[in-house]
Amino acid sequence: MSLSAVHGTLSSLKSCQADIGTGMDIVTDVAMDLAETQDQGDNPGIKEMEAMILECAKLDREINHFVDIVQQVTSEVNTQQQPEAMFSLSAKVKEQFTERIARLSDAELQSHPKVVAFMDSMKNSLNQANQESVENTEELDEDIAVTQSQVNFTCPLTQVEMVNPMKNKKCNHHYDEAAILGLIKAKQGQKKKCRCPVVGCGNTDVRQSDLIPDQMLRRKIQSQKRHSSRT
Ligand SMILES: [Zn+2]
Repeated sequence: MSLSAVHGTLSSLKSCQADIGTGMDIVTDVAMDLAETQDQGDNPGIKEMEAMILECAKLDREINHFVDIVQQVTSEVNTQQQPEAMFSLSAKVKEQFTERIARLSDAELQSHPKVVAFMDSMKNSLNQANQESVENTEELDEDIAVTQSQVNFTCPLTQVEMVNPMKNKKCNHHYDEAAILGLIKAKQGQKKKCRCPVVGCGNTDVRQSDLIPDQMLRRKIQSQKRHSSRT
């Protein structure tokens, strides 16, 4: 095992992490379907989805810590001078990883951005479903979604309809994921803070950690797309 093999493994772990993220989006989507179509109250399906989301968040967090520890441990050792040091690396990583994982709490998982997005989506879906059952106006609801579209579906950065809308939890503005992450990165490169691109917004420091995927909005955009392709 060489260091380059280690780095190769790390990068495949990271692509695995991207799959976990996609999986979490799908679980959220399914849970929203359940919340919108099933009887409200104690819904065992949604509870199961919630457990799955938390499980994924845990895995995602463990990969982060693992990658972090491997990078730290490998940077401390000079394998050219001491080739035998490779042998102690894995034991060292294992030891530090176990130690770090033991210190983590499950409660922290609630602040994982995709878990936050899940909880948010569930709350919104349940609210919406409750309103619908009171008013029973599904048609009207779709019309509302369409009128809203002219206002909210456009990314302030790309000026086109968002694909993966992210909500800024500080100022509540939305942007498309790729566009805002690109902007934050570009500003970081210039050592500048990223100002919220929405005109008139006072938020002068947009950080990646403030952004939460807005699954509800994403679904609205998608359902409106389906709606307009039908007509
Ligand atoms: Zn803003």
